[in-house]
Amino acid sequence: MSLGSELFSRYFDDTHASFREVARRFAREEIAPHAYQWEEAGSFDRELYRKAAAAGVLGAAFPEDLGGGGGDIFHAIVVGEELPRGGSTGVAVGLGSLAIALPPILALGTEEQKRRFVPPVLSGEKIAALAITEPGAGSDVASLTTRAARDGDSYVLSGSKTFITSGVRADLVTVLARTGEDPHGGLTFFVVERGTPGFTVSRALEKTGWWASDTAELSFDSVRLPLENRLGDEGSGFLALMKNFVGERLMLAVNGHALAEICFEEALAYSRKRHAFGRPIAGFQVTRHKLADMATKIATAKALTYACADRVRRGEPATFEAAMAKNHAALVARDVTWEAVQILGGMGYMRESVVERLSRDARLLPIGGGTQEIMREIIAKGLGL
Ligand SMILES: Cc1cc2nc3c(=O)[nH]c(=O)nc-3n(C[C@H](O)[C@H](O)[C@H](O)COP(=O)(O)OP(=O)(O)OC[C@H]3O[C@@H](n4cnc5c(N)ncnc54)[C@H](O)[C@@H]3O)c2cc1C
Repeated sequence: MSLGSELFSRYFDDTHASFREVARRFAREEIAPHAYQWEEAGSFDRELYRKAAAAGVLGAAFPEDLGGGGGDIFHAIVVGEELPRGGSTGVAVGLGSLAIALPPILALGTEEQKRRFVPPVLSGEKIAALAITEPGAGSDVASLTTRAARDGDSYVLSGSKTFITSGVRADLVTVLARTGEDPHGGLTFFVVERGTPGFTVSRALEKTGWWASDTAELSFDSVRLPLENRLGDEGSGFLALMKNFVGERLMLAVNGHALAEICFEEALAYSRKRHAFGRPIAGFQVTRHKLADMATKIATAKALTYACADRVRRGEPATFEAAMAKNHAALVARDVTWEAVQILGGMGYMRESVVERLSRDARLLPIGGGTQEIMREIIAKGLGL
């Protein structure tokens, strides 16, 4: 059972319910026993990708004929809600980097490209990452300068990318590069494979949270790519990226209410067993009201995110709604994880506490996948401003 499961039951059917059991068991058995060690080490066992694929939680919503689970976006939401229960957002997002790296291949790639690049990732054999952000261009994607220059029947790629999730160990990277001068219309996706001469990981980056997921700065020094590694026509990258952002922002919104709910459950359990002044701290009205507000906020985040995901499931546009959902869930995650630390007192500040870890992890949510300020710009545009 999760918070509001009756309230939101219309979004989920029996296949989601049984799949939730599978994903929850995977988090409990395969992640939780190692979460602390993997977080401290800044990495997790590569073997976990294969195990996740075998359990069906790696590419739940990807097409079956390419090795995915054939589910819908709510199967992906189930995974997004359950994997952080293993106690490491880093592991969840490390396993999840394929969810932003593969969609441009599915949207723009030929049948041959899909068959070549996608199945090895969905089987857990290869790791995929998405590289958009550059040292000089983040929110302002249209100003990116990594360039792919056509040279006969190949391209020569030069530039650098930063903050790339799973970038340190990625076997294939979906890279957005400039092939023309038009700020938006001059962008094209390419697939760059590990081992291609000139492609190197220049730095592994240390972060506030998500410790178990690696984050990289990547360098492309005259990397020669065959035509077969270009996705779609020249100039098709920006539109595909905008579509990709909807899915990414939705899954970050899911991560927001998931982290909040885990911390809420921890705080609820702690408040019942922790005694002060002769009573459980849940006996103080101030604690009960905090928990009541936390539960309410989580329900509002779920309501908005599920409604938005339902539009995606029906094939309706959701750019505006996904921006709202992400911003709202990020605020809910901030408030609820912060309050959970407060309810746990000193224990909430200790590294052994999952609340301490998840409250740090939640700081990413107003930044990654488009910042809070950029989301507000999208919402304002949707309002006609
Ligand atoms: C842990 C982590 C993982 C990431 N993973 C990936 C990944 O896998 N792949 C990838 O490509 N990227 C990734 N990113 C990058 C992420 O998408 C960017 O950090 C984000 O888009 C913001 O870009 P920036 O950091 O360059 O900030 P900037 O764009 O430099 O923004 C700095 C500040 O200026 C504000 N600002 C900028 N423009 C405006 C405006 N028009 N109006 C108002 N305020 C504005 C921003 O909101 C922000 O507060 C990751 C980042 C982190 C931290």
